[in-house]
Amino acid sequence: MIKNAQIHFNEMGTPVADDFDDVYFSNDDGLAESHYVFFTQNKIEQRLVNHDQDHFVIAETGFGTGLNFLNTWQQYSNLKTSHTLPRLHFISFEKFPISHSDLRTALAAWPTLAQYAKQLCKQYPIALAGCHRLEFDDGNITLDLWFGDVHDSIPKMSCQSNGIVDAWFLDGFAPSKNPDMWQQSLFDAMANLSRKDATFATFTAAGFVRRGLQQAGFVCQKVKGYGRKREMVTGHLPQTNGYASTPAYYQTTPSTLTNVAIIGGGVASACLAFQLSKRRIKSTLFCQDDALAKGASHNRQGAIYPHLQADCTPQSEFYAHSFLYAKRFYEHIRELGFEFTHQWCGVLLQAVNKSKGAQQQTLVDKGQWPDALIRPLDSSQATEVAGTSLPYGGLFIEQAGWVNPAQLTQAVFNAAQASGCSKAHFNTDIEHLEQSPEGWLLHSQNQVFGPFSEVFVCAGEHSDRFEQTQSIGLQGVRGQVSHVQAGNVSSELKTVLCHKGYFTPALDGLHCMGATFDKDSKSRAVTEQDNITNRAQLDKFYAHTEFAQSLGDITGAKAAVRCCFADHLPMLGQVPEQHDLTSAYKNLRKGKYYGFGESQQPFEGLHIVTGFGARGLCSAPLATEHLVASLCNEPRPFSERIHQAIHPNRFIVRDLIRSNI
Ligand code: SAM
Repeated sequence: MIKNAQIHFNEMGTPVADDFDDVYFSNDDGLAESHYVFFTQNKIEQRLVNHDQDHFVIAETGFGTGLNFLNTWQQYSNLKTSHTLPRLHFISFEKFPISHSDLRTALAAWPTLAQYAKQLCKQYPIALAGCHRLEFDDGNITLDLWFGDVHDSIPKMSCQSNGIVDAWFLDGFAPSKNPDMWQQSLFDAMANLSRKDATFATFTAAGFVRRGLQQAGFVCQKVKGYGRKREMVTGHLPQTNGYASTPAYYQTTPSTLTNVAIIGGGVASACLAFQLSKRRIKSTLFCQDDALAKGASHNRQGAIYPHLQADCTPQSEFYAHSFLYAKRFYEHIRELGFEFTHQWCGVLLQAVNKSKGAQQQTLVDKGQWPDALIRPLDSSQATEVAGTSLPYGGLFIEQAGWVNPAQLTQAVFNAAQASGCSKAHFNTDIEHLEQSPEGWLLHSQNQVFGPFSEVFVCAGEHSDRFEQTQSIGLQGVRGQVSHVQAGNVSSELKTVLCHKGYFTPALDGLHCMGATFDKDSKSRAVTEQDNITNRAQLDKFYAHTEFAQSLGDITGAKAAVRCCFADHLPMLGQVPEQHDLTSAYKNLRKGKYYGFGESQQPFEGLHIVTGFGARGLCSAPLATEHLVASLCNEPRPFSERIHQAIHPNRFIVRDLIRSNI
């Protein structure tokens, strides 16, 4: 687990890092110095105005108080009043994130940045290792905060060859105070991530830094330092070095995304439409029902919380970061004026039996997750949090809660629509996909739509109905949630309870209680037997509690099919074709990770976005953002291991490596 920075403020009010015994910025006008050294010497202003892509990427070593970021944001905003600019993407690495309260105190020193600082403080994430994607100014500004040592973070990033970074702010405490950071491996990693002609600027003129950057391929020059400082160093990378973290068999082919179709009307479709609209990419959604969220997204109350294991497995990392992003994403939708019924009331994972208790204890003992994300409670603390007497302790996820999934899906789609980039066709059942030289054609019973440059199939359990998608390995699990009348005690419940199933605080006099798991059925019909099962499951653990005894009758239920894949992760990316992959990457069968043939990509432009199981509310926002960012050749929010873990080629690639096909 990473640690927060230990800091104090010196007599000038400047923050000082105790671990490094160095100031975060200069005592005399740190803002002017940061502006000169990093912004001006990288020529950011001129380059923003004349950029060759629709996003400009700055990467920084050492986020600290965010002064560089805020200054860049302010300069960008000023410039935007008179110029059309690319979106600004700022990546910053931070080993010891400063705490929320220290951040507020430190930034109070800069009244001219106050409006930006306030927004940063609002979104500033908890100290969890990995990439936190923060978005500002309607998506024009993206901040990827990679918490962890830059030496650990860069190798985890997911990128294809030709680089992603346009300019480096090579900050960090003075080399004499922080020798571990200023290593050749850092300079090499910077070159790996750089686009052709990427620049850097650094305040230090230390000879070994300059030589190290030269060795990595940068052309360096000394220039005048800020104020009384004699020298600093700038430079550029004339040639990329071809580095790619993503192997050929997990590539995402960048796309122009000129005309996009989305098939399906659930939460994943709405999130996808929003992530596209943020980039001004137009999409048309096709839904077989008469409204959104009639499939797996149609419960009255769906819990949103991350599924965490004791170890930081790819699954846990995926859910932890997806959850934190989803919270920011949904709050943003509300700020845009699109409301949905919800309560961020926490989710309490109850230790209802010995094995659950042991599992939870292992998670606590391993200490992988910050308390701000998940923390243990004994039964009396659990009772206090829940507002009703509970017989068990458990793990509390305070930031979690529940939402009304149908309203949320509608709100997200309305936000996409309000941007003028998304429209929808309802009662339109797409039965067949045809690939034509002009693009993809969508056939419904009596109409043909298209051609589209891209089609995203987000149709839940129907996603494998097309000839091209039938082999993706989708599994359906039917589930029923029952609605039970609240009693005088159960109405007091203040948090979502998870036992084997889940139980929500009352909404309009009803609790949601569920859910059943039925692997052999794709039926959406409600059954009486499943209501009995849901009640029995609750009674198994809570029969003697006052809240369960106060419950009334079951007055309704909803059933849906959650769809998933064998490894319990969703699938996002281009639809694979087995023969194409097995011939291009046949060397994998022999353990050779080179000498591949060319993949023909027979289904180019056809993407699958499904398999979220019961966790789409938590994971769809960031997973769709990752897919769209990858297609637009932008920095990706997920690490490389997650990129691979959700890639559609994964099952075929694993089978090839094991010589199973
Ligand atoms: N750029 C910052 C700003 O605008 O406020 C100031 C950065 S401060 C001088 C240096 C930062 O680098 C500190 O926050 C420190 O924790 C961070 N740092 C030091 N070594 C690091 C490493 N190996 N990886 C990531 N961050 C590191």
